[in-house]
Amino acid sequence: MSIPPTLALADATGRRWDAVVVGAGPAGAMAARELARNGLRVLLVERAAFPRSKVCGCCLNARSLATLKAVGLGTLTARCGARPLHTLQLGGQGTEARVALPQGVALSREIFDAALVSEAMRSGADFLPRTRAILEGVERDRRRVRLEQAYPSLSPGARVGNDVVSASVVLAADGLGGNLLARAGVTSAPPEPGARIGAGVVLEEAPAFYRPGVVFMACAAHGYVGLVRLEDGRLDLGAALDTAWVRRRGGPGEAAGDVLSSVGWPLPDRLAQRGWKGTAPLTRHAGRLAAERVFVLGDAAGYVEPFTGEGIGWALAAGVAVAPLAVSAAVDWQPELARQWAIVHRRIVGHRLVCRTTAAVLRWPRLVEWAIRLLAIAPALAAPVVGLLNRKERV
Ligand SMILES: Cc1cc2nc3c(=O)[nH]c(=O)nc-3n(C[C@H](O)[C@H](O)[C@H](O)COP(=O)(O)OP(=O)(O)OC[C@H]3O[C@@H](n4cnc5c(N)ncnc54)[C@H](O)[C@@H]3O)c2cc1C
Repeated sequence: MSIPPTLALADATGRRWDAVVVGAGPAGAMAARELARNGLRVLLVERAAFPRSKVCGCCLNARSLATLKAVGLGTLTARCGARPLHTLQLGGQGTEARVALPQGVALSREIFDAALVSEAMRSGADFLPRTRAILEGVERDRRRVRLEQAYPSLSPGARVGNDVVSASVVLAADGLGGNLLARAGVTSAPPEPGARIGAGVVLEEAPAFYRPGVVFMACAAHGYVGLVRLEDGRLDLGAALDTAWVRRRGGPGEAAGDVLSSVGWPLPDRLAQRGWKGTAPLTRHAGRLAAERVFVLGDAAGYVEPFTGEGIGWALAAGVAVAPLAVSAAVDWQPELARQWAIVHRRIVGHRLVCRTTAAVLRWPRLVEWAIRLLAIAPALAAPVVGLLNRKERV
């Protein structure tokens, strides 16, 4: 069922907002909830209609679950019917290994993100979906944000509602390749040269080989594909693929099919013809994390290839950690807050060393093959890395 807006565009422009949060993914929805719980008047703006799907592996690790618990949302994933995960099954050319997972659940992004938005609304945040935000300048201690709405009953682009709101502080949680800051003339996170693109699809029907509770990860020279059963039995596929290979093969479905075939895992029926969605290039350096009266968080603040499934954990932790700084900024913006956010943010994502190292290793098929062979003999060798990735965050 869709989540309706809590107010109309015209009403939003007439109100005095403490905070406008752009993007209702895990980072934005969590931040909106935390700010509303702190008594701020919050407007959460989202370009898409909600619920919306998103290219993702849909796995929440121990870190994500710990952050939810720390802010009183410990039962949220269970209430959504999330599937517990117990095993990571790695596949390379002619080799396979199984590694135990200490914790984690699989949950579709339609359900998870919508549940977080509902929690933000329950805490008092207003929600304006189907609305694109464009950052404008600062005027008398307030940041201006232009909001654009296409009228759904008319043909696309026929007429748009267009108005400006202002707030003491704006949170840019507009996701991978988000260009909110860039539009205001501030450099955002540019992709690294040769960065892979993401692609994904959710299938109603799929081979029984892909069992619930297991994260399947197929690795090949041109990319990797993660597969997991969701709460309703559908199979989620999330992939990171070389752009040139996707182009050569004629689409992400063909390229992902190559990866699965090279590992020898069964191909879902008509895989290439399903409704694959792609993303912008994945790995990007952190750009500016703040500008006057703006904080950047989540994927918009930089990202590394998704193999290790850390993105949601980082986004949730950032949504919680930005709240005290945004509350201060709403009272009195000080440039020092931008510096503080850079420090706090670095503490949350670290140097993304494990992810960067994993991403680098994945570019060497021979190394991947040996690593999987080694893990097949001694799965316990994976424990330190799995432990690091599931390290619980202090929030
Ligand atoms: C292939 C793949 C697999 C992945 N697998 C996993 C995994 O298994 N586990 C994990 O933890 N992470 C995974 N990730 C990473 C995870 O998806 C992201 O890190 C996470 O979604 C980041 O959350 P976010 O809130 O920053 O951004 P998003 O979830 O992308 O949300 C941003 C929102 O902003 C909205 N928006 C953008 N621009 C505007 C605008 N101008 N105005 C209004 N709204 C706007 C978008 O519509 C979107 O809803 C994966 C990523 C990929 C690509």
